[in-house]
Amino acid sequence: MKFLKLVEYFEKLEATTKRLEMFDILSGLFKEAKADDIDKIIYLGQGQLLPPFHGLEMGMSEKLLIRALSEATNTPTKKVEDVFKHTGDLGKTAGELIKNKGENLTVRKVYEELTVIARTSGTGSVEKKIGLLSSLLRGVSPEEAKYIARFVIGRLRLGIGDPTVLEALALAQGDRALRPELDRAYNLCSDLGLVAKTLLEKGIEGVNKFHVRVGYPIRMALCERLPSSEEIIEKIGEAAIEAKYDGFRVQIHKNKNHIDMFSRNLERTTHMFPEIKEAVKNFITADTAIIEGEALAYNESTGELFPFQVTIQRKRKHGIEEIAKEYPLKFFAFDLLYADGEDYTPKPFKERREKLKKIIKKNPVIEPSELFITDKHEDITKYFEDAIARGLEGVVAKRLDAPYAAGGRNFNWIKLKRSYRGELADTIDVCIVGYFRGKGARTEFGVGALLGAVYDPKTDTFRTVSKVGTGFSEDEFTQLKKILDEIAISHRHPRVDSVMEADVWVEPKYVIEVTADEITRSPSHTAGRDKEGIGYALRFPRAVGFLREDKKPEDANSVKEIIELFEIQKKVKVG
Ligand code: ATP
Repeated sequence: MKFLKLVEYFEKLEATTKRLEMFDILSGLFKEAKADDIDKIIYLGQGQLLPPFHGLEMGMSEKLLIRALSEATNTPTKKVEDVFKHTGDLGKTAGELIKNKGENLTVRKVYEELTVIARTSGTGSVEKKIGLLSSLLRGVSPEEAKYIARFVIGRLRLGIGDPTVLEALALAQGDRALRPELDRAYNLCSDLGLVAKTLLEKGIEGVNKFHVRVGYPIRMALCERLPSSEEIIEKIGEAAIEAKYDGFRVQIHKNKNHIDMFSRNLERTTHMFPEIKEAVKNFITADTAIIEGEALAYNESTGELFPFQVTIQRKRKHGIEEIAKEYPLKFFAFDLLYADGEDYTPKPFKERREKLKKIIKKNPVIEPSELFITDKHEDITKYFEDAIARGLEGVVAKRLDAPYAAGGRNFNWIKLKRSYRGELADTIDVCIVGYFRGKGARTEFGVGALLGAVYDPKTDTFRTVSKVGTGFSEDEFTQLKKILDEIAISHRHPRVDSVMEADVWVEPKYVIEVTADEITRSPSHTAGRDKEGIGYALRFPRAVGFLREDKKPEDANSVKEIIELFEIQKKVKVG
């Protein structure tokens, strides 16, 4: 496929505000794509060169792009900056400055050139990157330049989510019923390009042969929630009860001496945890293994676990050795998905845990998570109270005979957290879909409140549930303004359902955690809206922390969960 063709599709996707039209455009694109191109088309459309678990980044800033544009068009950087000031978008700036007809490059060619730029590192790489990008820009038309410019600085803003791609792929095959099979393959390999390419090359039979592979992160299993120990036992009977640690979820892949680690949203985090990497090499006795657990900072002298606010300091790109000395980590292993050539995901939890324990040699970093088995709710309550007193977040109950539900949230795992008086039983993760400029003192930051939405997987849309205007510091508001303006779009995104009109709409990209007093019914929001047009809303919402970078937009809480929390709240009130 020619790159210009892909750009025409990007233009259509950018222009639409209708969800169904967006699916039509995407499935039209996939129908036209050949097996050789489809993976690249999907990656490019999602603003990346490879799935995030490869950790391949463009490494281009606005500044470098401005210099590349200046070189490509023989324009002084000052002039490029002036045009940028005027357009507010480096894509449009590139479109205005580039005057060539273009060489009609293919998607493959552009993809390869961009990959070379991304892989250029080390001394002198900045100049090399600028040189490579400017020569690419010299060979393209203004329309193509617009998207290349946006792409290299991570601002494509198309907002194509993973479920959106999966749905459009099934539609392009003319068979929506393929969705569960495509989802299954994706859950096991986390690589949409690979799933799509296999589908075009080998048909759905090929897709159905996907299996767990070391090095390809498995989409993580998640917890449902219940309000009490009684209901947990009622729901799943005898269960394994574990401590709920509040740190980083890590999926570790061991292939002899090669270790990879992936975060909750499947980004590569290996570089962040050198002590865990060493411990896996030395103390996990299986040659190949996939292990999951939670990493937390702890006090070496007292053995006490630190709260998340301390652990989060380990999330950084530089100065890792120093911070590792200051805040060493413990890794509490809670699941085993693969060991020595055997796929453990279909096996019952009990069997996975037994094997997990066997392959961990005693060591100071990795230990199995605390666990006991019971069918008595009193035991859970007692342990829960103790866990809270020790600074843990609560407990997770696990069904003993359940397989590992890759990419799924169900009652195989149930979390029980502390709920305080006048507060919801849990925090809510909402995706930011727009913002309001604010009045009075707030105008000075440019952001007065964020429009937050929860996810509806049935329709692949974000439905609003809250306007969040408190919980952020002045400095955070200023940062938010900058971050959100980088992903601002000219109209409501087609995947967003809202009756409120935001002052500025943004691509659904960032998730924040919000606490609230309760959930109420409200006509102002679209989450769970009934025939009368009444949806659900958060009462007195306040943000906790800053952006949740470990979550993708689709990892925001779902509409269904909001309704469940509303029901839980009703019960608690009566009790
Ligand atoms: P979720 O990950 O379910 O979307 P979340 O990130 O808000 O939601 P919680 O719902 O509070 O987190 O809890 C689930 C998370 O708890 C898991 O993703 C995992 O990181 C963490 N966790 C801590 N201890 C355990 C445990 N023993 N078993 C499973 N998960 C645990």
